[in-house]
Amino acid sequence: MGVLQLVSRVLREVEEALEDDSLRRALERAAENNERNVARVLERHPEVEHLAREVEEAKKSVIERLDYYIDKAMESLRRVGARPYLAETPEEAREIVAGIVGRGKLVVMSKSMVAEELRLREHLEALGNRVWETDLGQLLVQLENGRPMHTIAPAVHISRVEAARLVSERLGLELSSGSPEEIVEAVRRFLREKLVHADVGITGANAVAADTGAVFLVENEGNIRIVSGLSRKHVVVTGVDKIMPTILDAFKAVLVQAAYAGLYPPTYVNVTAGPSSTADIELHRVYGAQGPREVHVVLVDNGRRRAARHPVLSEQLRCIRCGRCQLECPVWQQSANHWGGRVYGGPMGLGWTAVTESLEVAAEAAMLCLGCMRCDLVCPMEIPLSRIAAWLKRQYTRRMGLSG
Ligand code: SF4
Repeated sequence: MGVLQLVSRVLREVEEALEDDSLRRALERAAENNERNVARVLERHPEVEHLAREVEEAKKSVIERLDYYIDKAMESLRRVGARPYLAETPEEAREIVAGIVGRGKLVVMSKSMVAEELRLREHLEALGNRVWETDLGQLLVQLENGRPMHTIAPAVHISRVEAARLVSERLGLELSSGSPEEIVEAVRRFLREKLVHADVGITGANAVAADTGAVFLVENEGNIRIVSGLSRKHVVVTGVDKIMPTILDAFKAVLVQAAYAGLYPPTYVNVTAGPSSTADIELHRVYGAQGPREVHVVLVDNGRRRAARHPVLSEQLRCIRCGRCQLECPVWQQSANHWGGRVYGGPMGLGWTAVTESLEVAAEAAMLCLGCMRCDLVCPMEIPLSRIAAWLKRQYTRRMGLSG
């Protein structure tokens, strides 16, 4: 039996993607733009490459002592008045967030791959909450009932015509030209009302500083600072792999992520260290001034602590989700996240799927990896992605009884 027959399920999904010409054109454009933007950033700011080496070392030190850093981060979060939780499984994480949010609430969310891992939006909606994504790309994915096709650009597969159709048909917004500018303006007006009246704002995190409990979020749309700053409750849902030893390490991590996503300097870096407060009346501290009164931080394990002890998969935990490897990969350029697991696709998606979803699914998808190693060359965290893929292929062939 040939290898290609063995991976029929993966092939079927990729085959469908291959038939979609507009998807492939969109991916080609995205890959060209990203390559050009990152090259320009690194030429203008060569110091970013030094920062990347520092971030890589800091991440290695956290992965080696992950339990220690989780405890330290939780202690620091408590000290600044935030409420930390450690959720071992997606079920536990969903239950914690549902307990904080309640039912019948208006919830606004910013883009988070960990929230996708948990199917958090769907879970909160099933409990009777009205939930809105506020990142434009992620909102389009919500409107099409789809899934993110890239870690930074979730709607990379949606054309402007399709985006216009989605916002006019699903949101009832009137558009005349359907230009990107018009869509952005219409969505801005639509979301403004949700953002102002939301009971709860849910974000991910790009980094959490273990020494101070400071949560870092990087963005260019400006939605995250409203989601995290306007509601009475701010819930952060993030993986334990996002913990960095210090506040400076955390800052460096978000700068490097922004640079390798081709957006440098980032338009906004948001830092949250506990709930808002004031002591302006008789120096008596009152929590909940203009910002949230409660900040909850749910640190999600979902296989990460086990992976930290694994000789191969532990390497994936250094990933800062810049998405550079996806855009460089010749297979991803044809198929986007149709190639990979339920949440994560492309080169980084093989490792992340093995960590958070299923070794079998990741191993099957890995069989389509060409082994060209282009992903290894562009990864700012020097993750040996092709070695992870090769290891997964071995797991697959062993499972199928194909190896000697
Ligand atoms: S594996 Fe490397 S290149 Fe890919 S998303 Fe993660 S950090 Fe970026």
